[in-house]
Amino acid sequence: MDSTSRRGFDPLTYKFEEHRPRPGEAFEVADGIWWICMPMPGRLDHINLWLLNDGEGWTIIDTGLHNEEGKKHWRRIFDKYLDGKPVTRVIATHLHPDHTGLAGWLVSEWDCQLWMSRADFYMCKVMSAARPADVPEDAIRFYRRAGFTEERLDRYRQRFGQFGARVSSLPAGYRRISDGQYLEIGGREWRAVIGHGHAPEHVCLYCPELKLIIGGDQLLPKITPNVSVQPSEPLANPLREWIVSCERFREMLPPNLLVLPAHE
Ligand SMILES: [Zn+2]
Repeated sequence: MDSTSRRGFDPLTYKFEEHRPRPGEAFEVADGIWWICMPMPGRLDHINLWLLNDGEGWTIIDTGLHNEEGKKHWRRIFDKYLDGKPVTRVIATHLHPDHTGLAGWLVSEWDCQLWMSRADFYMCKVMSAARPADVPEDAIRFYRRAGFTEERLDRYRQRFGQFGARVSSLPAGYRRISDGQYLEIGGREWRAVIGHGHAPEHVCLYCPELKLIIGGDQLLPKITPNVSVQPSEPLANPLREWIVSCERFREMLPPNLLVLPAHE
């Protein structure tokens, strides 16, 4: 935070820290924008999801992991907060299971559409289809070249193909979100800003009227998102892409913006 102060920006402040909702509860952080927390294993502890009043219905942004506990918390929210209106759209900021895990379940429960970026929709489908027995030999060679010990390679083999278990089946079709696209949610204009480095095409949603941005994993306080070279693209430079995205966000977004991040 000192470095941001030196650059002439105000340091980060946390407006709603003491209002963090319990699982199955929601807290309104701006007009029609409700904050939901779903439990996560490990150090992340929880993911922040968003329920947006969208006129005749509701838009959900990100979903939590695919498990029975998550479905139970969603059902409590549906009973308590929807005012008798249906969920009419589910948006996933990017492909990771804590963001897409219950997307397939939600769109099938509510008979509505899933909105995502194209690269993340297809990559999520590909990764969900990988089976534990299918560990690719070139991925093993990739990690061996990167310096993995035999023990770590075994751990990779054991974990391979687990992605699909944490994501309920995605629908066959989706609605594409592209960079710079305007979406109307709740009678307001939202602009899709796509970032790179953590996911192929990570969608952030910026609402000038409310002066807030839904940052997903692209814009996080305190921690840095995972930025990794994967065996699927061994010569990629995701760190460069991530830094370029950070610079672009800083240039295009106004100061004193409310950022709604997926973690912390
Ligand atoms: Zn992520």
